Amino acid sequence: MVNLFFSLFLLLFLTTPVFADIELAPKGKPPMRLSDVYHLQGLPYVALDDVLDAVSLRGHWDSVKHVYRIRTARGWAELSPGRKNLKIGAKFYPLQEKPKFIDGRLRVSENFILSQLSLLINRSIYYRNLNPVIAQYNADESTLDRLFSFLLHKKNIVRGQRLRGVAIDVGHGGLDTGVLAADGYKEKQATLDIARRLSKTLKMNLGIPVFLSRNDDYELTPKQRLEPVTHEEVDAWLLLHAEGGFSTTAQGVVLFVRSPQANRLAEGPDASRQLADELLASFQQADIPVVGILSSPLIPLGRGSLPTVLLELGYLTNPTDLQRLRSAGGQQQLAQAIYQGLENFSLNRKKN
Ligand SMILES: [Zn+2]
Repeated sequence: MVNLFFSLFLLLFLTTPVFADIELAPKGKPPMRLSDVYHLQGLPYVALDDVLDAVSLRGHWDSVKHVYRIRTARGWAELSPGRKNLKIGAKFYPLQEKPKFIDGRLRVSENFILSQLSLLINRSIYYRNLNPVIAQYNADESTLDRLFSFLLHKKNIVRGQRLRGVAIDVGHGGLDTGVLAADGYKEKQATLDIARRLSKTLKMNLGIPVFLSRNDDYELTPKQRLEPVTHEEVDAWLLLHAEGGFSTTAQGVVLFVRSPQANRLAEGPDASRQLADELLASFQQADIPVVGILSSPLIPLGRGSLPTVLLELGYLTNPTDLQRLRSAGGQQQLAQAIYQGLENFSLNRKKN
């Protein structure tokens, strides 16, 4: 089951790391490319250290005064996360946004770079946001849509390239047990065991990095759950779950992909559907019952072009599925089938 997970997911919208690069320099100087950029409600926030680096200024955090001090030709300048102004010498300059600590680094907004940075270096600056596409997503799209476009809209999907890396969201964890079988066996245990086996098989056979949202039994923050897809080399995202039915007869793997509406932003063929097709075929080859592929506007599937499939790996309420989900042999069979589907997807991508 995924409903609790979805609502937690929504919490994440405001601060997420993204693959949005900017270029920055004093005008006439070769620009520096900065990639540790966070978006907050569509506005890029860049680490102040990186910004100063790009314009050859030096600064430091004064933990006593709780301000960031910058040495400039016009005297010491000060910025503080609590203040909506830039102080240079005795003068104050209003800011549109306060500097913010995000992910442990003090960051300034794009507006600071465009409006106040030149004050610090006494000359105009060159600035370019290399991912303006994000901003182009029409404004009436909810923050949710923009977030997912971001996260799941990989900036450089290289057609015809083999998979470079895989992200796996391991369903539930900690107090969030997921579905329980009649004897108390927990969905969170099945997703973790299968994710570990899949990760090992992928690394051993394809030699590519695999990023798990969790690698033990603990609860995840919404941010931690999404962290695996932030890795540049991730070319496919699998969300592992198992479900329960009202009767013991319901059984089989169910694959979920984004609905066509959610996919209208993506370029080219529907890569998620291609991945799901490969997974379906490999489950069938492994004689694992599959219900089919359902396209659904399920929130975690989001929008964009990153090949993404949510796998409900069977019913904990069905004795046969339960045995496959909890036994070492059954888990390895499931992991092997998923691996085979990914490998075929990778190979067929290469041919495109
Ligand atoms: Zn679940």
